[in-house]
Amino acid sequence: MGLAAQAHPDWTTPFPPHHVAGNIYYVGSQGLASYLITTSQGNILINSSLESSVPLIRESIEKLGFHFSDTKILLISHAHWDHCAGSAAIKEATGAHYMVLEGDAEVVESGGKADFQYGASPEAQYPPAKVDRVLHDRDEVRLGDTVLVAHLTPGHTKGCTTWTLKVQEAGQTYNVVIVGSPNVNAGYQLVNNAKYPQIAADYERMFRVLKSLPCDIFLGAHGDYFNLDAKYARLKGGAASPFIDPAGYKAYVAERETAFRAALAKQSAGRRGGAPR
Ligand SMILES: [Zn+2]
Repeated sequence: MGLAAQAHPDWTTPFPPHHVAGNIYYVGSQGLASYLITTSQGNILINSSLESSVPLIRESIEKLGFHFSDTKILLISHAHWDHCAGSAAIKEATGAHYMVLEGDAEVVESGGKADFQYGASPEAQYPPAKVDRVLHDRDEVRLGDTVLVAHLTPGHTKGCTTWTLKVQEAGQTYNVVIVGSPNVNAGYQLVNNAKYPQIAADYERMFRVLKSLPCDIFLGAHGDYFNLDAKYARLKGGAASPFIDPAGYKAYVAERETAFRAALAKQSAGRRGGAPR
């Protein structure tokens, strides 16, 4: 899989903005999820995505009847270009406060150059953006009546973040989980990684955290984590709340953990099979 957006046409394909649940709206493209969380004190945007995504996100927000300029806080799922390259432009346009978890904060401020895997890949770099608040595991981000919790779910990046919040919908309270990324990318070295020695232990920690989170409404950094296309089709067909999917969340996390364990076993076996050096 290439790094460039051309390898992922869905990343730049517009998608209908829509209500998810409570005060959460989907404002991303088909492949790159962005979420608008509206409050009485302005709005929170999760994921600035590619530089070219910014006008699409703005348009989606405005189609829903909200104002891009009301974006007060900008958050990300993790410090990879497909989720954060547009941050500098969004900060510039809206004055939003950029809040990023420690481990990823250094990476976004370096424009991707500090990334352990892609730091030397020009196509993975983007305009650096200053972080206004460095977050730590389980820090809260508050705006109006909304409280988001930043869960450190590292491995995919050092500060990969899974966001949780509670929303009210039809008199019920639901736990929302926005998964940062549980994926082991092509080329990731899980064993003897000099740039990220604790990477395998971090993936282990991430799966422990994901399995511990109560989840009713399952969302993530890419639409394909939670079958956005199929759920949106059900929403359009009149289903009340297709995004409520606790079983889908559990199955997704279990499947991703199995994939991680297979990758780790393969890389560990490769090491053992090699000549001593
Ligand atoms: Zn990523």
